[in-house]
Amino acid sequence: MLKDFFMGLSQNQFLNTAAKKYGLKMGAQNVVAGTNIAETIESIKELNKHGISCTVDNLGEFVFEKEEAVAAKQQILAVIEAIHENEVDAHISLKPSQLGLDIDYDFCKGNIEEIVAAANKYGIFVNFDMEDHARLQPSFNLLDELSTKYDNIGTVIQAYFFRAEEDLHKHKDYRLRIVKGAYKEPAEVAYQDKQEIDKNYIELIEWHLLNGKFTSIATHDHNVINHVKQFVKDNNIPNEKFEFQMLYGFRKDMQLELAKEGYNFCTYVPFGQDWYGYFMRRLAERPQNMNLVVKQVFTKKTNTMIGLAAGAFLLGRLTSKK
Ligand SMILES: Cc1cc2nc3c(=O)[nH]c(=O)nc-3n(C[C@H](O)[C@H](O)[C@H](O)COP(=O)(O)OP(=O)(O)OC[C@H]3O[C@@H](n4cnc5c(N)ncnc54)[C@H](O)[C@@H]3O)c2cc1C
Repeated sequence: MLKDFFMGLSQNQFLNTAAKKYGLKMGAQNVVAGTNIAETIESIKELNKHGISCTVDNLGEFVFEKEEAVAAKQQILAVIEAIHENEVDAHISLKPSQLGLDIDYDFCKGNIEEIVAAANKYGIFVNFDMEDHARLQPSFNLLDELSTKYDNIGTVIQAYFFRAEEDLHKHKDYRLRIVKGAYKEPAEVAYQDKQEIDKNYIELIEWHLLNGKFTSIATHDHNVINHVKQFVKDNNIPNEKFEFQMLYGFRKDMQLELAKEGYNFCTYVPFGQDWYGYFMRRLAERPQNMNLVVKQVFTKKTNTMIGLAAGAFLLGRLTSKK
């Protein structure tokens, strides 16, 4: 119920546009690394200090104008330059829809190719994030076409899709991030039951760890993480073959702990003004994340109350002097 509510909000273009105007609000600043590249690089440096690498996502949704897609491309190209100049341990995550997939396939491919080529020059990896099922096959097509020229690219397998196993086998030689899946998908194409998704998730991870290239296990689920730790031990899979990934701002203690234990760890670092859809999906997948919002509202209220109390105190002093 709450999941559907937040998922509905995540797709609301009016609220998305309104939110963009007002900067980081409602607690989103706890899970978004910065509004601009300079702030984001500082956040990356901080994570790198703890042995954590980063994948940088220039936030953006609902791109239906070519100019917007070109602006997003320019911003990502600037991130690549900043990663290189600052010598930080980071790569790129991009969303094909932000680069024009909903406008025109070839236009989108041209934008993505420019990004992949620029990143390739510096040996920077580019991950194609996966979105909803309507964009799934075109995104795989983009990846497969560009892979004839570039090897610094990979993508995501979403365990809730019935076709996930087939896609995984087909793309096993890519560096793959395996996730449960974040969008609301119809019953014709995706498992709806959490237990079925979790079961498929574990199976896909195990298969790729045994048969595939590098695996990024992207989850906040400690049961999955503990299972993977045991599985790699039992199967003598070296640490160089996989990493754990989590989103910026979530389970920070566990992120630091896994890195400290010697596992490769990568934090997904979203930045920018267009935080709304991303933030609503985080609330949809775990309504307890509302505590980020509540904390923020409480802090504001508290500040206001402190301000009012201070005002009343000063006024009292002034009037008593008279
Ligand atoms: C790095 C990264 C990249 C992603 N990229 C994509 C993508 O390209 N496409 C896509 O569709 N989805 C993506 N996702 C989202 C993903 O599909 C899931 O929607 C999201 O990660 C929630 O599922 P989960 O595996 O974290 O665990 P859940 O199923 O949400 O949670 C399982 C259990 O873990 C524990 N838990 C979870 N979160 C917390 C928390 N914050 N604090 C304490 N305990 C917690 C709870 O006990 C919970 O019951 C990505 C996720 C990550 C981490």
